[in-house]
Parts: sequence; C-alpha cells; structure tokens
Amino acid sequence: MITINDKTQCCGCWACYNVCPKHCITMEEDSEGFRYPKVDADICIDCGLCERVCPIKQPKQDDTEPESYVVQNKDTKVLRDSTSGGFFTVIANWAVNNGGVVFGAAFDENMTLRHIYSETIEGCVRFRGSKYVQSLIGESYAEAKRFLDDGRIVVFSGTPCQIAGLYGYLGNRKYEKLTTVDLVCHGTPSPRLLARYLAYHATLAGSQIIDYRSRDKHYGYDYSTATITFADKSKYYHKGKEADIMLRLYFKNICSRPSCYHCHFKTLHRQSDITIFDCWDAFSVSSKFSRKGATNVFIHTSHGKEIFEQIKNEFVWVPSEINPIIKRDGIMIKHNVPVNPRRTEFFSDLNTLPLEAVERKYLPSPFVKRMLVAVKPVLYKLGVFALYMKMKQMSGKN
Ligand SMILES: Cc1cc2nc3c(=O)[nH]c(=O)nc-3n(C[C@H](O)[C@H](O)[C@H](O)COP(=O)(O)OP(=O)(O)OC[C@H]3O[C@@H](n4cnc5c(N)ncnc54)[C@H](O)[C@@H]3O)c2cc1C
Ligand code: SF4
Ligand code: SF4
Ligand code: SF4
Repeated sequence: MITINDKTQCCGCWACYNVCPKHCITMEEDSEGFRYPKVDADICIDCGLCERVCPIKQPKQDDTEPESYVVQNKDTKVLRDSTSGGFFTVIANWAVNNGGVVFGAAFDENMTLRHIYSETIEGCVRFRGSKYVQSLIGESYAEAKRFLDDGRIVVFSGTPCQIAGLYGYLGNRKYEKLTTVDLVCHGTPSPRLLARYLAYHATLAGSQIIDYRSRDKHYGYDYSTATITFADKSKYYHKGKEADIMLRLYFKNICSRPSCYHCHFKTLHRQSDITIFDCWDAFSVSSKFSRKGATNVFIHTSHGKEIFEQIKNEFVWVPSEINPIIKRDGIMIKHNVPVNPRRTEFFSDLNTLPLEAVERKYLPSPFVKRMLVAVKPVLYKLGVFALYMKMKQMSGKN
C-alpha cells in the first residue's frame, strides 16, 4: 500500500485514489493545503495497485525531440480570453464537434479548482486560461476511462504530472480516441493560499467572488494581470506581478507543492500527445502573428500530429525551430525552480497571520518598485510597454 514518507515524492495526481479497488484511499489536506493519499489499513487488501500506477515511481522519460509550432487563434475574443495563443480552445472545440468529451480545470461555485469534464463548447469555456493553483483531479481519470471504453473521443488536459497520472491509471495503454494535452509547468501553488487570497478580496469588496483569472490580458499579453470578478459584476484588476500577492508569491517560489521543486515530469519528451506553453515573442518567429499572445505547441506523437493536421486551419500557425524556442520560452520544460529558503516559515505564517501581514513580511515593496508598478499602466496606454519589456529583457533585469 502507498505511504508518503517524503512529500517531494507525491505530486498529488490522484492516480492511486482512482485505482484502489476497495476505495480505501482518501486524499487528505496537509497543513500547507496540499492533498496526499491516506490508506485505511483496515480495508486495504494489499493488492499493490496504488503503487503500480504512481507516476513518480515510473522511470523518467527519455528526451526525444518533438515537432514544434507556434500558433495563434484567429478568433479575437477567444485569443483575448486565453492565456497565450488560445490553442487549447481549438482542440476542445474539435473534440466537442466530433461528439467527444473534454477534461480540464475549472473553478466550482466555491472557487475550488477541480478537474471536470464537458461535452459542450459553452462548458469548455470554463477551462480556458491558466489557473495558478493545484486542481483536484477527483474521479476524472475513472470517468475518462469510462468514456473511452464507450468509444468516445476524449481530450484530457492538465499539468504534466496529471497526464502521467492518467496514463498510470490507464496502465499506460494508448487509447486510439484519447488525446492528451499537457503544459510546460512552473509549479502549482497551494489551494489554501488561493482560498485565503480570495477570501481577503471578497471581504474587502463586500461581495462574493465568481471568477478569478491568474493571467488576464487586460493590459496586454506582455503584462499579465490577475483579475477577480465579483457577484455584483464589478471587477478587480491587479497591475502586473509586482502588484499581485498571488503572482508575486508564485514567482518567489515560496508557495508551490514540494514535488514541484523536484519535478519528475520536466523533460523534453512527454507522455502527452501535445505540450502547450507561452510564446513570448511570436512576432520574431513570423510577422503573421499579432502581439496579442501565441502558444508554443510541441507534438510528441503521430496521434498528436494527426489531430494537429485536422485543426490547423482554425489558427494561424508556423513551424518553429525547437532550440531557439526552448532557449527563449522553455526554461521550465526541463528545469526546476529552487525552493525559497523561507518556504516552511511562510506556510506556518499563512496559517496564523492575516494575509496583509504575510504580504508585508514576504513581499516588502520598496519605493522604486511601487513607482514602477504605478507607471506601467501609463506605459501600456502610451503604447510603449512592449518596448519597455524588451529593454528590460535586454538589460537582463527580468
Ligand atoms: C500551473 C501552470 C503553470 C504554467 N507554467 C508555465 C511556464 O512556466 N511556462 C510556460 O511557458 N507556460 C506555462 N503554463 C502554460 C501557459 O500558461 C498556458 O496555459 C499555455 O500557454 C496554453 O495557453 P492557451 O492560450 O493555448 O490555452 P488556455 O486556454 O490558456 O489553456 C488552458 C488549459 O490549461 C488547463 N489548466 C488551467 N489551469 C490549470 C491547472 N491549474 N492545472 C491543470 N490544468 C490547468 C485548462 O484545463 C486548459 O486546458 C502554465 C500553466 C499552468 C496552469
Ligand atoms: S494496496 Fe490495493 S487495496 Fe490497498 S490501498 Fe493500495 S490499491 Fe487500495
Ligand atoms: S499516485 Fe499520485 S497521488 Fe498517489 S502517491 Fe503517487 S504521486 Fe501521490
Ligand atoms: S511542477 Fe511538476 S510536480 Fe509540480 S505540478 Fe508541475 S508537473 Fe506537477
């Protein structure tokens, strides 16, 4: 039976939970807000299945080279609402239009991020956009298998460890009608932190929160902005990563799951059919692209290529050179972020201090930085923000 002695060795993929024939595994939240399997030893029959499906116990994948493309959705509204180039929506729509089912991460009515499925185009809109928090897989691997056994098309999207968890659960069987899409993944922050952050904003606004976007394009693609939508339809816009608590903590590498700093799944080769990630300078790949966001697409399998061929007329696309793309956009394909040395202290404070105190302690904001935050929206409105970003990158201060 599975026991977790070292938390870096459990990515929280829920494969063990889905496979257990006695349903004696529960996924319990720890003091940081991440879930880990706990076995009821009185019910367990020691069949060993939970250990067999665990993706962290599988050997690391070989680095085979994928095919590489840059794509941008032709629909300006979808492009505006997607995190990068809106590739995901095209493949989701393809699945639905062919009678299929799409699995992705969406907030429920309590703003908990869960993996769910949808059989409609409207339902898949909730999957659109990156949510910087770990999603709860729940029963979705078992549900996906039921659809596949019924002969339905299934598109399953998620972090690399979730896709590896799905294949572990499926016994590494490659179903003809299954297409998997994973992401290049920086790491996933604690659901408890997001809950604290949203509760703080709900109290400030005196209104319930109905949507949260980790990376809105309110100020353009170059300038990721966290936005919150309240029940009274008012909106809250954060202005760039310097201003937003969640994004700043995320990029300080202080709030991700322990396994994310020792990720077993950060390889060029993936088990998925397709990997998607940000393309920050698509315009330099081809002048066909606008500066409104583009997705790098890596295709790992002949099945992934087949699907790409079927959907490619729905977006602007160009083939890309893999090495320059990895150098410019893909550092997180293979590399882990370092653990912030104050991570343990941070989680202990998160459980005891008000969020404003946590912010003051871990995100002190010097005067120069505050000025920069104030001036950024003005630069954006004057149309010189992209130039500012380029100069900043060239001076190595990113
Ligand atoms: C936690 C996280 C970390 C990321 N880290 C990087 C990175 O370091 N570098 C990089 O280039 N790109 C990263 N990405 C990917 C990037 O942000 C875009 O998602 C990607 O470029 C696809 O954008 P799109 O416009 O094509 O589709 P979108 O519409 O933006 O696609 C969203 C897809 O992501 C899935 N998704 C959203 N949030 C989650 C979640 N929390 N867990 C699992 N699945 C989720 C949705 O189900 C949907 O399938 C990350 C994404 C996430 C969710
Ligand atoms: S050994 Fe078998 S019965 Fe026991 S927890 Fe694992 S899967 Fe469940
Ligand atoms: S299968 Fe997933 S959730 Fe279960 S122990 Fe392994 S990594 Fe953790
Ligand atoms: S960094 Fe690795 S372990 Fe963490 S969520 Fe991403 S794929 Fe999973």
